[in-house]
Amino acid sequence: MELSKDFLINGEKIAGDGMAVPVLNPATGEVICEVKEASPEQVDAAVRASTEAFESFAAKTPGERSGLLLEVANRLEAEIEDFAKIESLDTGKPLDAAVDEMGACVDLFRFMAGAVRNMSGIAAGEYMEGFTSMIRRDPVGVVASISPWNYPLMMAAWKLAPPLATGCTMVLKPSELTPLSTLKMVGMLADIYPKGVVNIISGRGESTGDQLINHDGIEFISLTGSIRTASRVLEAASKTIKNTHLELGGKAPVIIYDDADVKKVIENLKMFSFYNAGQDCTQPCRYYVADAIYDRFVADMASAVSDIKTGLPDADGTEMGPIITQGQFERVSSVLDAVQNDKRLEVVTGGKKMSGSGFFVEPTLIANAEQGDMVVEEEIFGPVVTATRFTDVDQAIAWANDTRYGLSASVWTENVGRAMQTVARLRYGITWVNTHLVGVSEMPHGGMKASGYGKDMSIYALEDYTVPRHVMIAH
Ligand code: NAD
Repeated sequence: MELSKDFLINGEKIAGDGMAVPVLNPATGEVICEVKEASPEQVDAAVRASTEAFESFAAKTPGERSGLLLEVANRLEAEIEDFAKIESLDTGKPLDAAVDEMGACVDLFRFMAGAVRNMSGIAAGEYMEGFTSMIRRDPVGVVASISPWNYPLMMAAWKLAPPLATGCTMVLKPSELTPLSTLKMVGMLADIYPKGVVNIISGRGESTGDQLINHDGIEFISLTGSIRTASRVLEAASKTIKNTHLELGGKAPVIIYDDADVKKVIENLKMFSFYNAGQDCTQPCRYYVADAIYDRFVADMASAVSDIKTGLPDADGTEMGPIITQGQFERVSSVLDAVQNDKRLEVVTGGKKMSGSGFFVEPTLIANAEQGDMVVEEEIFGPVVTATRFTDVDQAIAWANDTRYGLSASVWTENVGRAMQTVARLRYGITWVNTHLVGVSEMPHGGMKASGYGKDMSIYALEDYTVPRHVMIAH
């Protein structure tokens, strides 16, 4: 498989000039390749190119920008299999899952291509006698986008499509741990976009990322990543008052009422809680289960979870791959060690890292968890979920909301009224009823509270990358 390691700077494909960063195969622990990170001069050049390209790109019609996005979608679609193979190699996720994710990327580019031709707003009119007012929605400017390692290309697509639709120019930095699928886009983006409009560079957060977010030429910073990195972004933004867009962590509560269809709940949670080895900011991971069904739920869920087939991403029937990075594998392993040492917590299935090469952890269900337990409060970002018993509905909702995060939640019940009452009381950017984790390009993805602000996907993302401007004309 041919790997692209070049960056895209001012329309040129060019290798990094900085330190070599190893990219690991998480299923084996072996080095796939090294990617040299961007030197300070290359970061400068990328921002300069974006700045120089801004005026003419912003002046393109929505129809022209839409056409470019459709070309990206078509090129990506034609190469879905190759992109998926690289994604699967770089992240360890099962190949089928990677293929599905590439399809979602294609759909997002197509959605943004259509949506940008149909932006809406307040009607122009004479809101004061003798004057006509109108609203323009113009691009926010030169954007720095920083993406994480859990869904490398999908997160890159969420970062690329809306600003390129609205006429922003940009520099995108994927995670240095999983840059390969994003770097594979360099060739097609170089063919499709005028020089300087989109620049792709890779490198570590503390070097390349830090220089990028602090660069004077950057006007808007978009991050999908951890709260820790978001603090760095806000510090950088505060110095020159840059606009920010933050998609951060989560710890999704799952309220399972006594009238829920337990079999259906388990089928769904088995799939959604362990998808991507649990490394998903919307992972359903804090189960609050009604007393009447708690024992049955825990027993049946444990049996379902213990059936999950872990293995190499290209092996037949693999449902769950490894943890994507070594650092994260060590973090999840240390959480599991702490749980094993806690006499109250009951590890009903899993609970250990797996022997052999690669960063594999057993899919794990922990019962008898209580509010305030570290495993209930902290984002683990691995295949580990907890079950907590509740007798009082108000208490369950209060526990669900009792977190600094506000990204997503789900409610499981056969009673629509009960579901809607609960949804209204939950403080989450996304709330599912009788499902979880499913997203569509037309609907927004984004959080509240410490899960960040700003929306990915949907018309709301287009609005985030534009600024409403008032134009007033005296008659
Ligand atoms: P991370 O914050 O460590 O890294 C994210 C990106 O930020 C990487 O590209 C990294 O190189 C860069 N970075 C790190 N330090 C930086 C700095 N000082 N300056 C500039 N850039 C820097 O996060 P991660 O470990 O890659 O991703 C996991 C986190 O992302 C989890 O908390 C997860 O919940 C979150 N996430 C959120 C969403 C969402 O939509 N809300 C989606 C996926 C992941």
